Amino acid sequence: MLVIKWLQNFRSMPYRILPVFFILASMLYSCKAPGPSLVSGDEPLRRAKNIVLLIGDGMGLPQISAALYSNNNKLNLEQFSIIGFHKPHSASDLVTDSAAGATAFACGIKTYNGAIGVDTDTMPCYTIMEELKSRGYATGLIASSTIVHATPAAFIAHQPIRVFYEDIAADFLKTDFDLLIGGGKRYFDRREEDDRNLYDELRQKGYLVSDYFKESLLEINPTAKRPFVYFTADKHPLTHSAGREYLPESTNFALTFLRRRSDTGFFLMVEGSQIDWGGHSNDGGLLVDETLDFDQAIGEALKFAKRDGETLVIVTADHESGGLALNPGSEMNNLNLVFTTNGHTAAMVPVFAYGPSAELFSGIYENTEIYYRMKQALGIADEMKASGQ
Ligand code: MG
Ligand code: ZN
Repeated sequence: MLVIKWLQNFRSMPYRILPVFFILASMLYSCKAPGPSLVSGDEPLRRAKNIVLLIGDGMGLPQISAALYSNNNKLNLEQFSIIGFHKPHSASDLVTDSAAGATAFACGIKTYNGAIGVDTDTMPCYTIMEELKSRGYATGLIASSTIVHATPAAFIAHQPIRVFYEDIAADFLKTDFDLLIGGGKRYFDRREEDDRNLYDELRQKGYLVSDYFKESLLEINPTAKRPFVYFTADKHPLTHSAGREYLPESTNFALTFLRRRSDTGFFLMVEGSQIDWGGHSNDGGLLVDETLDFDQAIGEALKFAKRDGETLVIVTADHESGGLALNPGSEMNNLNLVFTTNGHTAAMVPVFAYGPSAELFSGIYENTEIYYRMKQALGIADEMKASGQ
């Protein structure tokens, strides 16, 4: 009714005051406070050239809180101002596993627990890492578990079951990439299912390949002329507290390396893999230490992004692990941590974003949206979604 009345007034408005009306209206419009951009994008967002996706496996809000309050109330994560939540459930279970969780980020689809880069019919999905490589981007994966473990694997491999580690390793030979740092050397060079030596095959493909047994990662300092693979362990790398040091350092190294590898841009996934294992073993000390190590890697990514200005940094988790609570009796740097399970939980997990198009990651959305919003941030239209499939 008000609108109709206003329109009637407008119609009867003398023509001589119309210019004043338009001037006032345009002044009002230009004074509009710059609110956060909507996902649908009524204001153009600045596009990202590079993306660093950091996944803390099992790093829910309690894990972040526990690390924060065990570290004198300080985390690099506090530097983020754009924060959202995703709903981590998978196609098969309200409580996801890391395979379905990573496939949601990598492909933008909900699939069944245990699926590595395949849909609910076990058909391969085209991952963001594969697509970006084909578009000329440099791509890389870093993990503090084996590199064939569910989270990194889902970005490049396509297998119906997550424990097919040797098949997953063989998939790394099918898709080009620029950098790989993680454990699991044995799945490449001491295989049980066939006589292939994937370590040598990678070399034959032109990769510079090395490992923990030969030389320290920090001593190599490879040029960006060749793609680079480094195995940090035969199977799983050590825990941080037992001496693993490479996650923050290799994140720092990888960012510069990947930038040199392509003028188009780069995509890097860094996983803090063992936060999850602290949840499974109900080991508060382990999960706090692993979260703090991962937070150091986050700090390296932020440092790079602040200097670079073209890099979008996203930090999230696939799910929470352990049903962790910071119970009464907790004090700063002395927490009473209790667990409700030795599995995962279904709670929503936070998403932190910094850099160009970071605004896209505020709000509450499905975990699959991470994939779509990363592509939107890069300015890559998704034909599948546009056609409603
Ligand atoms: Mg993982
Ligand atoms: Zn787990």
